[in-house]
Formats: sequence, C-alpha cells, structure tokens
Amino acid sequence: MNLSGLWRNKKKRNILLMILLLIVWAVVIYVQFFSYNTPPEGALRVVMCYQCKEKYPETIKDIGDSSDPRCFCKKCGGRLGYAHKCEECQYEYPINPQLSIPPPEKPQKTMGKFEYVLEMQKCPNCGSTKTGPISIKK
Ligand SMILES: [Zn+2]
Ligand SMILES: [Zn+2]
Repeated sequence: MNLSGLWRNKKKRNILLMILLLIVWAVVIYVQFFSYNTPPEGALRVVMCYQCKEKYPETIKDIGDSSDPRCFCKKCGGRLGYAHKCEECQYEYPINPQLSIPPPEKPQKTMGKFEYVLEMQKCPNCGSTKTGPISIKK
C-alpha cells in the first residue's frame, strides 16, 4: 500500500494521527521532566560548598569540571555543587552529579535515567523528594 492510499483510509489515518499525538505528548513530558533540574549550561546558578556550606550565585558551565576555578568555593577552595533546598525540612545542600552518586550503569535507558533523577532529588536530611534548586530570585 502506498502512503497516499493510507491517508485516504480514514480509520488508518486516525490511528496514525493518534500515534503521532502520543509520540509528541511523550516527548513533551520527557523534555519537561528532564529540563526541570537541568537549566541551560552557563546559567547563573546558586552554588553551595560541600565543605563550609558557603552559598553564592555563580555562572557555572559544568559543575563537574575540576579544571574550572569557578567550580571551587571562593571562601575555602572546596568543591561546589548546585544549591538545593528541601521543602519538607528546609534543609539546604549541594548537588554535584560528579560527586554525589555514580551515574547509572545503563544511562541510555529511560527508566534508569528516571530513577537516577529521582535519587538525586531525594533530600539527604529527610529523604523527601520535594526538593528543588535554589533560584537566584528567592
Ligand atoms: Zn567553602
Ligand atoms: Zn528534607
């Protein structure tokens, strides 16, 4: 069957449209979920020191880049992470994907990524996932 014949068949066309919509919907959900915790690289982020808990805004390109002096604390020279805050217990803590948790064995698998992001979101103080990056405006 050729493509134009397929499009003239109403039932098949509807099924095709449904599949297309599902794909678009899945992509939108995927992009929204993963863009939530990963603002564009080089953005001004609130960073926090692992050692002295100093917190300040800094333009970070890659927080895991140990050759970039901006990835180290201005005050004590310790490693920095993105500052996160738990809504449940108000605990503030740094997250550095390079230091926190080793990456999943199969990062290409969507579910593996999903679980990895969830694990990263957990508050180290109370285990709640109601956490988020501290924004500049607050
Ligand atoms: Zn420090
Ligand atoms: Zn907490």
